[in-house]
This record gives sequence, C-alpha cells and structure tokens, in this order.
Amino acid sequence: MSLTPDQQAEIDEARSTPRPTLRAVSPGIEAHLHSAYPVLDHGLIRVIDYMGDDAAIVQAARVSYGRGTRAVSNDEGLIRYLMRHWHSTPFEMCEIKFHVKLPVFVARQWIRHRTANVNEYSARYSILDREFYIPAPEQLAAQSTVNNQGRGALLEGDEAQRVLDILKDDATRAYDHYEAMLSQTQADGSPQQGLARELARMNLPANIYTQWYWKTDLHNLFHFLRLRADAHAQYEIRVYAETMCQIVRDWVPLAYAAFEDYRLGGAVLSAKGVAVLRRRLAGEAVTQESSGMSKGEWREFEGVWG
Ligand SMILES: Cc1cc2nc3c(=O)[nH]c(=O)nc-3n(C[C@H](O)[C@H](O)[C@H](O)COP(=O)(O)OP(=O)(O)OC[C@H]3O[C@@H](n4cnc5c(N)ncnc54)[C@H](O)[C@@H]3O)c2cc1C
Repeated sequence: MSLTPDQQAEIDEARSTPRPTLRAVSPGIEAHLHSAYPVLDHGLIRVIDYMGDDAAIVQAARVSYGRGTRAVSNDEGLIRYLMRHWHSTPFEMCEIKFHVKLPVFVARQWIRHRTANVNEYSARYSILDREFYIPAPEQLAAQSTVNNQGRGALLEGDEAQRVLDILKDDATRAYDHYEAMLSQTQADGSPQQGLARELARMNLPANIYTQWYWKTDLHNLFHFLRLRADAHAQYEIRVYAETMCQIVRDWVPLAYAAFEDYRLGGAVLSAKGVAVLRRRLAGEAVTQESSGMSKGEWREFEGVWG
C-alpha cells in the first residue's frame, strides 16, 4: 500500500487532533477513522467520515412505528425485525465515506453500484502513479470449467511465470510510453510539446490504480457487501468488501450481526426449492429431474441444502 506524503500528512493531522462533538459517536468505528488498511498489492481503504450508529437505526424505526414498537422491546430485536422484513429505510439513516485506492478493472465493477456518491482522482488534471496490480501467484488461476464467470485450478510453473512476466512487461512498457507522450522532452533531449494528460492516459492498462472517495448509506452498503463479499464475487473486489465488513461490524454491531445472519449467511429459497425441502422432510428422495429445477439451479440448491 502506498499513500502519498500529502495523504499521510492529512491522516497524521486528523488523528492527532480529536474534536469533541454532540453528534452520535460509535466507539467501534472511531478506532478505524483515518486508518489506511492495505488491500491487494498497492490498494487501500480507509474511513474518512461516518454518520449514525445502531441507535440511529432504532430511533428512525421508532419514529415510523411509534407505539407499535412496544412489541419489540430491545434494540437488537427491532434491528433484526427490520432486516428480516426488508424494512430498509431506517438503515439509510447511517452513512459512511471511504477513501479507496483500487485497480481500474475493479473500479469498473464497483462503479456499477449507482446508489453511492463518488469523486475520483482526475487523470485529466493529474498524472497517474506507476502502480499496477500484479496478482500474487496463488491468485493466478485458469478459466473455470464449470463457471463462466470464475477461476479454476491454479496456473503452475512456467505458465504462471510467463503470465507474470507478460503482466509486468506490458505495464512497464505502457507506463514508459505514457511518460514519453506526456514529456516535453524527447529521448534524445530535444524539446517536444507533450501530449495532454487526458489523451496520454488512454494507453494505460486496466490494472493501473485509481483512487476515489465513495460515500453511501448503510442500506446500500449492505447491498454492495451482500454481492461483493460473497464467495462468488471476484477475489480482487471481494478483498475490499471483506475489509469493509470488518469496519462495518465495529461501526454498527447490531445491524451487522443481523445482516450477517439474514443476508450474508442466509439463503434465498425459490418456490420450487421450498417444495423440494418439504418433500424431502416427508421422506421422499427428490432428484434434479423430479424437482422441476434446471441443472444449474439444482447444483446451486444442492450446494446449500445437499
Ligand atoms: C456476480 C455478478 C456478476 C455480474 N455480471 C455483470 C455482467 O456480466 N454485466 C454487467 O453489466 N453487470 C454485471 N454485474 C453488475 C450488476 O448487474 C449490477 O449492476 C451491480 O451488481 C450493481 O447492483 P445494483 O444495480 O443492484 O446496485 P445499485 O446501483 O447500488 O442499485 C441498488 C438498487 O437500487 C435500484 N436502482 C438503482 N438505480 C436504478 C435505476 N436506474 N433504475 C431502477 N432501479 C434502480 C435497484 O433496485 C438496485 O438493485 C454483475 C454483478 C455481480 C454481483
């Protein structure tokens, strides 16, 4: 992970000047504020700011339910009730802002989550750093034979080395050309105009790192984490989501526990799945053919219930 000297100075200043506040404070996330956690080879994630805590979710829910909340006497029970019944707006009362440094191909997946506010480093205005994601050998895997969107067995020996060499050579050559195009001096020392930054960047590969501030509310963050911390998510985005899960667990422990139980660790059943489970509980041996499910559905069903 590499922070620029300016970013490090900003963090040092923020950490050395605590301020008293009348706002709700979550002790768990205070410990994470302004700490940069390394992700992948040069990436990072850190919490810039947050608003709300478990109590803010409960407070919002009690506004909407009023006297009705008497039935649920404690905060944990109410939060679990809200999560279980997809009553999502109380979770939107909490917000969080991250600074993320990530490879561009990961950013393309991440940016698809539209319910966030994003401000990205400008490669029109600034020159990108010579930092490229090169996978660790244990991530260099072949195309999966069962999942078109996944990886299978690890590459071995010479093949793994060849792939690493190609990735490093291409990154080095592309960045050398980027610098050569930007430069106002040619290789032989004679002057040239230098290509605009907004154009020179177009030959950079998708494993170069970019950075952004990313702000979202807890409801939409849970949606993001549900998809991206899932075991089927691509490793390179999953490691960011897993780091965020640790932070969110400390920020809103009750809400995170409910999320972990009902969403992250829970499973969705189709009507056909419910019928198969009922038939099995009644002692019937159900097969894929007699289940009414496709082969893919059956494989996924058996993965959870088999
Ligand atoms: C395993 C996996 C594989 C994927 N593969 C592909 C792929 O091959 N190609 C591809 O293009 N994408 C792919 N995606 C991206 C995926 O289709 C979603 O774009 C991404 O997960 C963001 O989800 P979202 O739209 O629910 O999130 P958000 O954009 O955060 O939206 C949250 C929710 O808000 C609502 N919403 C937001 N904006 C709108 C809108 N404009 N109109 C209506 N409702 C809205 C929807 O209910 C949405 O679910 C993949 C994602 C995953 C997890």
